[in-house]
Amino acid sequence: MRTAAEAIMKVQNAHWEARSDWFNSVGREQRIKDYITLANQLIWQRQGSFFAAAMLAAFYFNPITTFTFYIVVALTELLDQNLGRHSKAWDGKDPVVGRQILKRIALNTVVSALAISVFIVNIAVQQTSGGHFTPLFFLFSASLFAVMYNSQMIGILLLRLSVYAFAFLSIAFLDVLRYSPPLRSNIWLEFFTIIFVLYFIIDISAKFYVRYQERLDQMRLIKEENERTKAALEVKRQFLATVSHELRTPLTSIMGSLDLVNHGALGEVPEKMKPAIRIAAKNGKRLANLIDDLLDLQKIEAGEMEFHFKPISVNDFLDEAVESTTGYADKLGIHVTSVPSLHDCRIMGDRSRLMQVMNNLLSNALKFSDEGGSVEVRVQIVGARVRISVHDDGVGIPKDAKDRVFGKFTQVDSSDVRKVGGTGLGLNITKQIIQRHNATIDYVSELGIGSTFFIEFDRLNNAGAESAENVSVEKVA
Ligand code: ADP
Repeated sequence: MRTAAEAIMKVQNAHWEARSDWFNSVGREQRIKDYITLANQLIWQRQGSFFAAAMLAAFYFNPITTFTFYIVVALTELLDQNLGRHSKAWDGKDPVVGRQILKRIALNTVVSALAISVFIVNIAVQQTSGGHFTPLFFLFSASLFAVMYNSQMIGILLLRLSVYAFAFLSIAFLDVLRYSPPLRSNIWLEFFTIIFVLYFIIDISAKFYVRYQERLDQMRLIKEENERTKAALEVKRQFLATVSHELRTPLTSIMGSLDLVNHGALGEVPEKMKPAIRIAAKNGKRLANLIDDLLDLQKIEAGEMEFHFKPISVNDFLDEAVESTTGYADKLGIHVTSVPSLHDCRIMGDRSRLMQVMNNLLSNALKFSDEGGSVEVRVQIVGARVRISVHDDGVGIPKDAKDRVFGKFTQVDSSDVRKVGGTGLGLNITKQIIQRHNATIDYVSELGIGSTFFIEFDRLNNAGAESAENVSVEKVA
């Protein structure tokens, strides 16, 4: 307990030491903005209570002086409103403007606190007997109001409270001076009560100020943390880009050389060497795929992937996609069929990016099928949409795995990696490309039965297709 209390004391002392210059410029912009925003928000509440106090006082005391002083209070409000407009235009950058605004806030505070004090002391002066409960209570409310809503700038708050304290003491001394009462009289009791109330107000102002200060400090920490995270992300992005690029270039030449060796361009390959070269080529391809995926992901996330949108005839496009996988499918002993749409249908898209999507869906369908299996690609028109589906009768995907299927670096079953290879990035990139086409991707699957992945696009009508003949280029947002 003791150590906790000491720690709190320490923090509070540090605050008071650090802010010994109460008009300092630490977080000045935020303080001024908070101050003005709150002041503007509370204008009707403040004016309402002053008006009610004025009506009450006018009924029981001299209405002419009461309303005259009340009008002065209302006029000081206009000064505050004017200052609020001026400060809103300040972008927080020019410190000279900041100092000017601060000076005007200080001046307005003194003028407004004086006007309120005169309004209240005027009531006290008219009370010649029975103490000064009404004006004291008004003053107490005004002080509490200031403590609750002006704690952003302790200097300004103290300025206002000093004027109110002067008014409190004036009221306290009023009857002491008027009647010179003995120490045991009620007048002195009221005097000492007022001193106690003053202490209470100062105590809670300090608490409000410390709390506001802590909030500001927390906000500063969050901001700093945010900046650090952004910087770290940028370093990660640059690191990934550099590493991927530096790996891609030598890898391309290694793969090229292996290709030459494999095709016998450099002479007959000894039988004993063939398996080793095949493995090297296979793993080189895997590495190249990983680097390509990393580069794509990084491009998408940095908003640097360009899309060239053009109308695409879906049937033709699918023929091309299926044809490009024939070699791989034959190697795995899997039969691929394509079922085109009966009607010609077109969509708007980036052909090479969508080919990347189809390659990913098809290679997954092939990878996760057993030898002798079959894969079917189908185009359907569903209302105003075109649906492309890739169906396989392979291993299937367990229930509740959607997040992992479309996640980054995630494989539903980690043994997949060893068995069939893959980065766990393909479907994540696919989904992001699909989203850029205003299209959707989803799947249905059953373990041991197979999976169907489908993507749906808006169908281009003829008018749309014609107006879309102009290619549009967009970057990922
Ligand atoms: P990978 O590079 O591992 O193929 P993807 O992002 O393309 O990465 O796929 C993520 C995971 O989703 C795969 O590892 C696999 O577990 C599962 N998956 C994707 N397509 C299929 C499919 N047609 N059949 C079974 N599982 C699939």
